[in-house]
Amino acid sequence: MKKQFEDIQIELIQGDITKASVDAIINAANKELIGGGGVDGAIRRAGGPEVVKECDNIRATQGGCPTGSAVITTGGNLFAKHIIHTAGPIWEGGIKDEPTLLSSCYKESLFLAAKNEINSIAFPSISTGIYGYPIKKAAHVALKTIKELAESRHKIPTTIQFILFDDITYNNYVDVLTEL
Ligand code: ADP
Repeated sequence: MKKQFEDIQIELIQGDITKASVDAIINAANKELIGGGGVDGAIRRAGGPEVVKECDNIRATQGGCPTGSAVITTGGNLFAKHIIHTAGPIWEGGIKDEPTLLSSCYKESLFLAAKNEINSIAFPSISTGIYGYPIKKAAHVALKTIKELAESRHKIPTTIQFILFDDITYNNYVDVLTEL
């Protein structure tokens, strides 16, 4: 499914983000930038040792990637030239500022992409796997954040894909984007 907000095109695709044909993919990392399972493990495996090395350097020099922030590395062996790693919030019932932190992941990733002249990017569904964020709520935060940035004419990549692994996640994002 596709939808346009101002000059920003949003595309929902079901699949594997490591195969995305975009300038940069976003990794749902952890704040330590230590390899995890889920999409993080898949991206590190596909990207290879250069990606792991750059993550280790960032951890050594700046201590990692605080929740809601983003850092950039090479894409290593991926088609995508860059990986933007962002640490999503762990869902704790919604009382720990999770929506603000999740929205910040999308904003900081998009701003970092724009700063690096990246025009097309692909996101996974940040925080809805191991971190337990309810999918529909997370989809709403993700898509509304992008809609608002587009409408306020922020400089962000003009092609934004969401590459969603499973049927349930994909269907939830379609439902939310349809209503937005
Ligand atoms: P988090 O710790 O932020 O919850 P996870 O990696 O556990 O991150 O899950 C985030 C989402 O990424 C989940 O919907 C999961 O199914 C999905 N995912 C896992 N592997 C891939 C992949 N190769 N491509 C795209 N999405 C993936």
